[in-house]
Amino acid sequence: MSVETQKETLGFQTEVKQLLHLMIHSLYSNKEIFLRELISNASDAVDKLRFEALSKPELLEGGAELKIRVSFDKDAKTVTLEDNGIGMSREDAITHLGTIAKSGTADFMKNLSGDQKKDSHLIGQFGVGFYSAFIVADKVEVFSRRAGLDASEGVHWSSKGEGEFEIATIDKADRGTRIVLHLKSGEDEFADGWRLRNIVKKYSDHIALPIELPKEQAAAEGEEAPAQEWEVVNRASALWTRPRTEIKDEEYQEFYKHIGHDYENPLSWSHNKVEGKLEYSSLLYVPARAPFDLYQREAPKGLKLYVQRVFVMDQAESFLPLYLRFIKGVVDSNDLSLNVSREILQKDPIIDSMKSALTKRVLDMLEKLAKNEPEQYKGFWKNFGQVMKEGPAEDFANKEKIAGLLRFASTQGDDGEQNVALAEYLARAKEGQDKIYYLTGETYAQVKNSPHLEVFRKKGIEVLLLTDRIDEWLMSYLNEFDGKSFVDVARGDLDLGNLDSEEEKKEAEEVAKSKEGLVERIKASLGDAVSEVRVSHRLTDSPAILAIGEQDLGMQMRQILEASGQKVPDSKPIFEFNPAHPLIEKLDGEQSEERFGDLSHILFDQAALAAGDSLKDPAAYVRRLNKLLVELSV
Ligand code: ADP
Ligand code: MG
Repeated sequence: MSVETQKETLGFQTEVKQLLHLMIHSLYSNKEIFLRELISNASDAVDKLRFEALSKPELLEGGAELKIRVSFDKDAKTVTLEDNGIGMSREDAITHLGTIAKSGTADFMKNLSGDQKKDSHLIGQFGVGFYSAFIVADKVEVFSRRAGLDASEGVHWSSKGEGEFEIATIDKADRGTRIVLHLKSGEDEFADGWRLRNIVKKYSDHIALPIELPKEQAAAEGEEAPAQEWEVVNRASALWTRPRTEIKDEEYQEFYKHIGHDYENPLSWSHNKVEGKLEYSSLLYVPARAPFDLYQREAPKGLKLYVQRVFVMDQAESFLPLYLRFIKGVVDSNDLSLNVSREILQKDPIIDSMKSALTKRVLDMLEKLAKNEPEQYKGFWKNFGQVMKEGPAEDFANKEKIAGLLRFASTQGDDGEQNVALAEYLARAKEGQDKIYYLTGETYAQVKNSPHLEVFRKKGIEVLLLTDRIDEWLMSYLNEFDGKSFVDVARGDLDLGNLDSEEEKKEAEEVAKSKEGLVERIKASLGDAVSEVRVSHRLTDSPAILAIGEQDLGMQMRQILEASGQKVPDSKPIFEFNPAHPLIEKLDGEQSEERFGDLSHILFDQAALAAGDSLKDPAAYVRRLNKLLVELSV
């Protein structure tokens, strides 16, 4: 071995130590995946080299065939992977093999419970990667040199996976990376040609470059061992270029794990080839689980872009809208230029039409999933529903389609689970119902018991219950679905249209007329606190309720604005009372103006509390209530 210089020992970043621990203890039942991960990295490294060589052909250093070699030594108990991809510099090795760069990793790691079974599920959100080598090896050595650097600028990285690694500068004649795994005792089964060949076939058949293993050759007795020969063991063609009918589900799944850096199978995929004015292939996947950084702005998103089979860019964001940022996949274009840049992608009209076609594909795929695999779609909604709710605001053209994919909790369920589709809601709507009713609020418990629902319960009309932070904002973009408009039941003067009979309407009018005097008295008493006082038709059990003005902001939006430090426009609620309620009857008959004032303020404050709002002057509420209680008990 060549001379080593500038030797140092460095510590792993804390998160790496945690990941290593988690990996070793939770992935023991599927050890062989280490090979898939290392081959995946080698393939990425070759992709990067190919791409950089487009503008700097000298990086190819003579241009030997790009490939990956996997070999083993039964006696030394080692497995070795070698690629002639982009390679790593000393700095690269220190950062890429000693830290995890993803933002939010530290927070993610804090969530580990120490319960290995539970934690092993978390790894799916993370991907396992290079460190999976330590599942089978108690020492890993990496010899690498970045393409373009001098042979004297090679790097030797080595670690026992126990908190630190050693790094030294070495001579390395060939560009690329060689990884030597010193197998743990008990893991020597991997130092075996047959075993390795099977693992490569199983997980890495789709890798688009040749993976070679030593040819098995029986040396005839007495003869000298022949020179080493290699043979390709994988299919070595880009998966998305093959016809759909010839690709097995397992191949699609393994390919997903490679490009998605995921440990689990995807939920669904869609593979298409477009010919005509534009020519491209796409292979899009819906992951089974949300990555931990789904809501982080800088988190990687976007598709892997190829131009005529040459890898050009990771995380090409221009091909899908933001609300579909969880989709993983590949797009391979025949129309783009090989030196396309992110800036060009943002402006190119070709990209616009590809984007709208790919968006449709994804929405179609989700529709299919919802229809054919409702249980799986439930899981999808749990993971990605919040992100899908960004859709109607971002993607006007597909509003109706997206609305069809949304799922809501409703008064029909009793667990707050979001599993009602709008189509389903309409299918079981009451005769004469031409609206979609909904109520937004802070928590499910709060909206479920809201007085706003009383009349709906009485008439057996279903109401959607929306309690996600984004919901009110979402509803400001959704006006109708299937020709039926949405109605916020806490807003404005509730008009049940055909759901109220002519008699009911007439009766309501008469009651309202007979209570005009009471309305005026309450108005005078509550004064500035309300914008209007009126008789309610939506209450059966509660004495009073606060409705939001037709044009006013709802509570969620107000809170969001307040939290972001913005000025919230002033708005006053409408006080509606239930004329049939004993407390209101009492109020109506109250002679003392002082007591009338106390009682109407108490009713107002109670209505605010029931709506989940906080009181402007809680002490006054308590004082008034106690006064009444004392009078009651005398
Ligand atoms: P990921 O593949 O998701 O980026 P990994 O843990 O698998 O994460 O790899 C970490 C990083 O180490 C890679 O992103 C790459 O920069 C570097 N790396 C790993 N293997 C190789 C290799 N064979 N050649 C060049 N770089 C590599
Ligand atoms: Mg990797």
